[in-house]
Amino acid sequence: MIKISKLKKCIIGIRHIVKILIILVVAIILILGIIKITHKQTYSVSLNGEVIGYTQDKVALQKRINDYINSGNGENIAFVEVNEMPEYEVCLLKNGIETNDQEIFDKVTSSGTTYYKYYAVTEENEEKAYVKEFADAESIVNQLKEKKSTNSDKLGIVEKYSTTPAEYKTIETAVSELYKEKKVVVAKNTTKPKAQYTGPSVKTDLGISLVKPVSGVISSRFGIRSRDNHKGLDIAAPKGTAIKAAASGTVIFSGYGANGNGYSGYGNTVAIKSNSSVTILYAHCTSLYVKKGQTVSQGEVIASVGSTGISTGNHLHFEIRYNGKAIDPQNYIY
Ligand SMILES: [Zn+2]
Repeated sequence: MIKISKLKKCIIGIRHIVKILIILVVAIILILGIIKITHKQTYSVSLNGEVIGYTQDKVALQKRINDYINSGNGENIAFVEVNEMPEYEVCLLKNGIETNDQEIFDKVTSSGTTYYKYYAVTEENEEKAYVKEFADAESIVNQLKEKKSTNSDKLGIVEKYSTTPAEYKTIETAVSELYKEKKVVVAKNTTKPKAQYTGPSVKTDLGISLVKPVSGVISSRFGIRSRDNHKGLDIAAPKGTAIKAAASGTVIFSGYGANGNGYSGYGNTVAIKSNSSVTILYAHCTSLYVKKGQTVSQGEVIASVGSTGISTGNHLHFEIRYNGKAIDPQNYIY
């Protein structure tokens, strides 16, 4: 009997425990149910330790971010260098608080360095024009080839990346800027031009500065002309106009030019040596005011304009000789 009552007690005890367990399970299910109704499972997203938002699909969001960072937007953005990737943590978010994938995406991608993609049209490997699209660069090159631009076989296209967008050109502007016309050789001119006087093509540093010897109209420039190779610059001015020394120096010649002195045809001429390399000539003068051996300063009146020697009118023939060779005065003055 004692055994039976013990067993009864035991069964009652187990029943109690089971009841309590059932109540507990139901309670848990209820609580979970309530949570499930009022909350949703999401991921909190943080960047550099700071929560920047919530997403329900971390895989899709991270894939979108990865694609953008690696391959840009398919337009002008090539790729993005990002220092920190976002971190995801499971969390329950109260209903009503929205996930914000777009905002997270923007924050992550804008936290890095954006590299823009563009194309350079090159001529002999020198970048000449920038455009956004490869097709535009291709169109520029093709148009120049069609127009038979002389540089068309030296053109190329290079893909470029930069953190700052380039200054883009329109196709039309780039074509017109890059176009080089083929020089047409006129066949009827069969007589060879006279041996052209060639001064140094590069501007030589004379070591002196010049002032204008007279003010007037340029009537003939340095270089080739019909009757001779013009070694100076002609400045037309009325007879008697004061001629000032363009630079200071020592007078090495003052007189009438003739075969004997090397200034044949120059008429009344003053030659002033300014330094070991530079001598300046003033020719076809009416009157000469300086003598050989005299030193003159810049701006000093040395002669007056005339038409002596081989000359067709009143003018100053202004000639600069560098180490004995006439060079173009307009590289320095006028
Ligand atoms: Zn002249």
